[in-house]
Amino acid sequence: MSKVVRLPAAAIEEPLALAFLNTLFVEDGTEIDGLSSLKDVERWYRQVAQAHANAPLLHAQAAHGLGRLRILRSTLRLALQHHVRAQATDDDARSLQNVLGAGLLAPVFGVADGRVVVEAAPQTGTFVDRLIRDIADSFVDLLNDTVPERIKRCDGEDCVLFFVDRSKAASRAWCSMRTCGNRHKAAVHYRRRQRTDKTKGN
Ligand SMILES: [Zn+2]
Repeated sequence: MSKVVRLPAAAIEEPLALAFLNTLFVEDGTEIDGLSSLKDVERWYRQVAQAHANAPLLHAQAAHGLGRLRILRSTLRLALQHHVRAQATDDDARSLQNVLGAGLLAPVFGVADGRVVVEAAPQTGTFVDRLIRDIADSFVDLLNDTVPERIKRCDGEDCVLFFVDRSKAASRAWCSMRTCGNRHKAAVHYRRRQRTDKTKGN
């Protein structure tokens, strides 16, 4: 039995495309993959759907597909890292095209016995197919609706999480105040204390 991984809030509450990226995270200096089985994927997706008030859906049937999700995640992560730093290149666009490309979103028509048939519709396919389509939709919305400067990577040391900064002043620096924000505050406090102690000691 594999133990259930506790996902960071950013892997559930952020827009789907970012939440998906945030399923790979660092805890106590160790990289943790929150999607190490399709059961994990299903569980994660249910949490996301609930947080976003969508109907929970889909059952994982495809035994493969996890590999596709991992490739998608690392490709998307790399492209977004470049996007956040305003360093994206044509290579990023091309690799995104490959993993989230049009074939996935468009229906495929064919003909059988003189009738037009839908050979593949966007609403059919495996759990992973649909999930990838949802992630693609979410990523498109994110790029269309969000000023690039508002998509950020957490400033926390070691933290690899992405988030959308919805604060008024666009000054948010942490994926979560409870984790990285607090850790930073504690570190600043500790350094200040040390300096004061030293001054007092002299
Ligand atoms: Zn963080």
